[in-house]
Amino acid sequence: RRVHEGNVQLSGSALDTLAYNVGYISAEGGHATDDAIVRERRLAPGVVASDWLIAHGSTEIALRLMGPGLRSEIAHARGKRVGHSELEKHLELYDSAPEELIAWHRLVRGTAALHDKRTVEAIALLNDAIPGLEASANNHCLVRALNNRAAARGAIGDWEGAYADATRRGDLTRSWQIDSAHMLAEEVRRRVIERRDRAKLQTTTDQLLHDIDHDAMTGTISRHWLEHHLDQIEQTSDPIAVVMLDIDHFKDVNDVYGHSIGDKTLTRFGGLIMGTAGPGHPIARVGGEEFVVLVYGTIAEAETIAEQIRLTVATYDWESIAPGLAVTTSAGTCGGSSDVARQLVIGADEAILEAKRYGRNRVVLAPSRVVF
Ligand code: GH3
Ligand code: MG
Ligand code: MG
Repeated sequence: RRVHEGNVQLSGSALDTLAYNVGYISAEGGHATDDAIVRERRLAPGVVASDWLIAHGSTEIALRLMGPGLRSEIAHARGKRVGHSELEKHLELYDSAPEELIAWHRLVRGTAALHDKRTVEAIALLNDAIPGLEASANNHCLVRALNNRAAARGAIGDWEGAYADATRRGDLTRSWQIDSAHMLAEEVRRRVIERRDRAKLQTTTDQLLHDIDHDAMTGTISRHWLEHHLDQIEQTSDPIAVVMLDIDHFKDVNDVYGHSIGDKTLTRFGGLIMGTAGPGHPIARVGGEEFVVLVYGTIAEAETIAEQIRLTVATYDWESIAPGLAVTTSAGTCGGSSDVARQLVIGADEAILEAKRYGRNRVVLAPSRVVF
């Protein structure tokens, strides 16, 4: 009488309900197919459930209404004519049974009567059953009840009534189809939105991460990224060199040509540095018109890169941005070990001051050695 399954413990009427539901679903499945093999497979749990209810049901209702009712349902699903007297024996239980169960039981009795060719009785039982099935919104049973009543009404020549039941049954199943199609469409829509939102969120996250690590105007990496990177490489002691760049007299560019041309110049400047230094070296915008190139190599390599950038900038066709525009850059370089990377940045910055003092448009190697 008790079933233990994991932490779930069922007994008494809960177990009756479980068995009834198993039997009910099983019988519905049996009704819904014309394939005998499929039908038997679907009915198998229902057979067990109805036998169990008849033998072990914890209440009279379970023993005498649910069990025998299910057994008849299974017989009906098989298209068999069986003795249904059991169904009629304990109708006094209707006084204490739930309405839903009574409606279902009347449907089973009506179906049994139809099988026995007790047509008028079948119609009367189904007439009683249908309002109950409507009230409990049991559409599966309602469709079967209407189906059976249409057959019974047809059998006594009530063609009008039979037609009405058949039509209504058709409407119900059609609305099921529409409901199911609608539900499926909703589900598809929900999943599409979910996937789109997830993709959108991912894009936003990617964009934010990219924005944090990059300078929007020039496309170079950001100061934020550089600081983080310096923290990391200061844990190592590899050879590294810093090239620092500062545009010469950039204030004049703004003053003469306006900020918009100034911005364009900055963007182009960033592009030229990236194009010249190549992808192997992080290039960061660290101030308004100040950039750092990290060279993972010797000071000699850094000097070469710095001079290439200086030359590229000095010879670039800046008049493509504004007539008369000319831009040069000063560079400072400083090399050493990565565990003192920040000191190298400061050294390169100081070297720039010297480059400016020497007349700009040149590269200075810290400390105080003019390289070009
Ligand atoms: P120097 O050769 O000594 O470097 O002269 P400079 O005029 O370049 O002097 P400084 O480096 O001190 O000035 C930088 C100027 O860059 C100041 C500011 O107006 C300009 N600037 C900084 N950021 C931006 C920007 O995002 N857009 C524009 N258009 N101008 C900027
Ligand atoms: Mg500056
Ligand atoms: Mg400057």
